[in-house]
This record gives sequence, C-alpha cells and structure tokens, in this order.
Amino acid sequence: MVSKKMREIVEQAVKELAVSRGEAELIVASLLEKPRFEIYLNDSIDQESRQFLRAKLMQLKNGMPLEYVTKRMQFMNYSLRILPGVFIPRFETEYFIELIEKLIDFVPEQILDIGTGTGAISIALAHLYPDVHIVATDISDKAIRCARENIKEYGLTDRIQLLQCSICNGVNTRFDLIISNPPYIPSSRLHSLPKSVRDFEPMLAIDGGQDGIQFIKLIIEQTAPYLNPGGIVALEIDEDTVVTIKEFLQTNGCDQFSFRRDQFGKYRYLFIGELKNEKSRNIN
Ligand code: SAM
Ligand code: GLN
Repeated sequence: MVSKKMREIVEQAVKELAVSRGEAELIVASLLEKPRFEIYLNDSIDQESRQFLRAKLMQLKNGMPLEYVTKRMQFMNYSLRILPGVFIPRFETEYFIELIEKLIDFVPEQILDIGTGTGAISIALAHLYPDVHIVATDISDKAIRCARENIKEYGLTDRIQLLQCSICNGVNTRFDLIISNPPYIPSSRLHSLPKSVRDFEPMLAIDGGQDGIQFIKLIIEQTAPYLNPGGIVALEIDEDTVVTIKEFLQTNGCDQFSFRRDQFGKYRYLFIGELKNEKSRNIN
C-alpha cells in the first residue's frame, strides 16, 4: 500500500515542477538521500520530513538547480558535495578528463589545477594518476571550503594541496600538467546564459571578461615559469574565443598548441605542448 502522504508530496512535485511522476519520485528520493523504491516504504512521513521536503520543493520551484538544493552532485564516478555559490561542474569537464586520460604516454607527477571549484578535476586526476601530487587553487573562499570537504571525503588530503589565491600566486614548484576550467564566457554573453545559471551560479566562476579570454591569457602568462620541460597546459575554453586565443598564442611565439572538440562537437579545449601517443577519438 503506497503511503498517502508521500504520494501527496510526489503529486505536489509533479504539479509544481511540471515533471513526470517518475522524475518527481527521483527528485524526492535524492532529497531524502534514499533509493527511489524506498520512498514509499513507510506508511506516513513525520512532520519534520514533510516540512523539509516542502521547503526543498519550493527552492526547486523558484529555479534553484537541484545540485544546490540537495547539496550533492555527481562528477564522473565521484559523488561530490556542492555548496550554493560554488560552480556546478559540467559534462564538458568530465569529457576533458577523458581526453587527458587518452594521453597514454603522459603520466604527470605534479599537477596544478587553477580555479578548482568543488575540487572535481583534482579529485578525478588524483584517481587517474595514483602517484601524482596536486596543487589546487581558487580565489573563492566558498570554493576552497567545498573542495576541502570533498578532498577529505576521498581521503586525498595528503595528495591535493589547496591554496586560496589568484591563479598561481604563491605557488613555487613546477608542474608537468597545468589544467584549468577558468571563467571563460565573454561578459557580453552572460545575459544569454540559462536563467538558473544567471540567478544562482557565481559570476566569478563564469565571467571571462570582455573577450572571454582574460583568464586564459593570465594563466598562460603567469604559469609559464612553473611548467616543466615537456609539460602540458590544458584549458577549457569557449568556442567563440578560438580565433582570439590563436592570435594571442602566435603573437607570443607559441606554435605547439591544438584545440579539441567536446562531446557536443564544439571546440572546448586548448592543449599547449607536445601531445605524444594519443589514443585518438573525436580529434580535429
Ligand atoms: N574546476 C571547477 C570545475 O571545472 O567544475 C570549477 C571551474 S569554474 C568555471 C571557475 C573557478 O575559477 C571558480 O571556482 C572560481 O571561483 C575560480 N576563479 C575565478 N577567478 C579566479 C582567480 N583569479 N584565481 C583562481 N581561481 C579563480
Ligand atoms: N560552460 C559554462 C556555462 O555555460 C561556463 C564555464 C566557464 O566559464 N568555465 O555556464
């Protein structure tokens, strides 16, 4: 016998969020941190849980991304804590990690992850390279706190060092891989981002300045002294900025670079340095 109260809550979610019954059940299950089949198991739900669910459904109705409402999200195989005010990792960044994984002869020992956010990139790379040591920076206090929790949850405190600073300020070691998903949306395009992004995600994480490459330039210039010979700089970028980036690199005498497409066919990644023995897939 299905619990009436839970059924009412699921029905409320169907109506208010304009989702299917199955979707509503999944949302309620993730809010309660239970598998979907368990949500109807008790005959009734207590007052506290009912209030909790109503409040969370209201946040969703107001357009808050589910990740901020549940305070958890999935990045590849990793279940991460996320706090409102911290950038929600995207599918394109999961694909970025897959591209790095394809550089089969490239096994970095030291990695610098700039603008780590939740710590997603660092945590994935720490698993990909079991002996690597990573320095992860972010300017945002909230991001650093969130990354710290995730790094601790994955038992990586000894291998990922967090630094609250701008870009790589205060870093004094050298790296084989310098990676970043920096803010890269040109300021003039911020207004056209989805409402949930504009209303809830931090612009500090997204606004790439007038031409969208303000941080790309700063990262390339400021990290140059910290790249080991044979090292690689890998950056997530916006497709509209490819030409400007190319001009910038050529003007600065860099000719060893390539752009790669994401899983949706858009140029999304810039690799600087020599990529040897790449298992090729979706490569221009
Ligand atoms: N790496 C995470 C990911 O892929 O999900 C977060 C990427 S988010 C697009 C960009 C991050 O850069 C944000 O966490 C933001 O706080 C950080 N950031 C912005 N300006 C920065 C700066 N000057 N120095 C370091 N980090 C910065
Ligand atoms: N791809 C993100 C978005 O569209 C922006 C990411 C970034 O600036 N690094 O919201």
